[in-house]
Amino acid sequence: MNFDVKRLKQSVKNLQPNLVSLAQKLIQTPSLPGYEADIAQLIQLEMQNLGYDDVTVDRYGNIIGRIKGGKGASIMFNGHMDHVDIGDESKWPYPPFRGQIVKGELWGRGAVDMKGALACMLYTPAVIKQMGMLPPGDVYVVNPVMEEAGGIGTSRLVQKFKTDLAVVGEPSGNTLRRGHRGRVEMWVSVAGKSIHASIPQQGVNPHYNIACIIQKLQSLDMPTDKLFGASNVAPTLYQSDQSSPNVTPGHIRLTLDWRNIPSETPEQILQKVETLLQQCLGNGASAKVALATRPFTTYTGVTLEHSAVFPSFVLEADDPFALNAQQALSLALQRDVPVDIWPFATDGGHLMAAGIPTVGFGPGDETLAHTNQERVLLTDLRDALVGYTALALTDWR
Ligand SMILES: [Zn+2]
Repeated sequence: MNFDVKRLKQSVKNLQPNLVSLAQKLIQTPSLPGYEADIAQLIQLEMQNLGYDDVTVDRYGNIIGRIKGGKGASIMFNGHMDHVDIGDESKWPYPPFRGQIVKGELWGRGAVDMKGALACMLYTPAVIKQMGMLPPGDVYVVNPVMEEAGGIGTSRLVQKFKTDLAVVGEPSGNTLRRGHRGRVEMWVSVAGKSIHASIPQQGVNPHYNIACIIQKLQSLDMPTDKLFGASNVAPTLYQSDQSSPNVTPGHIRLTLDWRNIPSETPEQILQKVETLLQQCLGNGASAKVALATRPFTTYTGVTLEHSAVFPSFVLEADDPFALNAQQALSLALQRDVPVDIWPFATDGGHLMAAGIPTVGFGPGDETLAHTNQERVLLTDLRDALVGYTALALTDWR
C-alpha cells in the first residue's frame, strides 16, 4: 500500500463539511436526462475550484476532469449526472430537491443514484492534493449524461475516450461489485389485416399471433449462469394501431424486456425471438423483431438514435483488478469489503464492452434508488470518499 490510512482519513475528515455541502448542491440542481446543463455548469466550476489539471466537455455534454498522475494505469471514476423522475412530489417525506439532512442522512432525488457518489468522486482529487500525494497514474472523474435513458453518455464517450481501469459509483453500500446482467429492449411487431369486427374471418387478427408468442416465451429455454442465475424475459408494453373497439387491428407492437446473463448476446436473443415468431405465423400475418430504438436529444443539442441495450458485464472473481481493489478498500476502510454483483444494469456494461476493466463501488442502499425514500448516510459518503481515494492511490502495476 502506497498511502498512509491515518493521513487519508484525516484529510477526508477535514473536507467532509465541503463534501456534504456539494452533495446538497448537486441534489438541489435537478438534472433529468437531456436537462443536465445546470448541473454540468456546477460540476465544471467545482472541478476548477478544486484544482483539477484539466476539464473538458465532449459534444454530448459528458464532463471529463483530470488530475495528472505518474506513468501508471489511468483510472476513471464514472458518475452520471442525471436522475430518474421524482413521481408524485407529495409522497416524499422531505422535498426531493431540497437536500435536507435528517438524523445523519441526506435526503433527496439522486442521494444514492448517484449524486452522493458524484460528490465523493469530485472530492477525490482534493483529498489526494491535501495528502500531498501524486497518484500513480492519471485520475479521471467522468460525469456522463443520460445514463437513466440507456447509458447514452457513456456509450458515446468510450468511442473516443478510454482509461486503463474504471470504477462506477452506483450504490453498493460501499461494497465492491464486479458485474450485472444486461438489458435488451425489443419490439415485436405483427402485421395482419384490419377488418370490421363483425366479419373477423375476413381479416387477419394479430392479437392471436401475439398471444401465441407470449405463450411460447414462457416455455423458452433460458441460459443460466452460476453467478447471475438465469436470463429472463418479460412482455411489458402492448400497442395497437386501432382505437375503435369494433375494428380488428392491423398492427400490434409488443415490447419485451430481456435481462441477459453475460454469455448471451443481443444478436443471439434477437435470433431466439425470431425463431419463436416463425412458429406463430401461418394465418397470413407477418412479424418482425428489432431492438427498441428512440431518438434522444442531449442538453448540448445533439439528437441521436439510441437502442435500449445495456451490455451485461462480469469481471472474473480472480481478476487482479477486482482482487486488488478489494484489498485496497479493505485496508483503507479497515473492514472486510465483500464482492457481489448488482441486480440492475449500469454504465459498467458500456465501459467493459469498450475493453475497460470495471468495478462498482458507491455509497448508499441500492434498494432506495428510484424511490421516494432516497437518502444516504453522511458516514457512508465519508467512507466512499476514503474508498475512492484509496483506489485512486493504488498502483495497479
Ligand atoms: Zn444510477
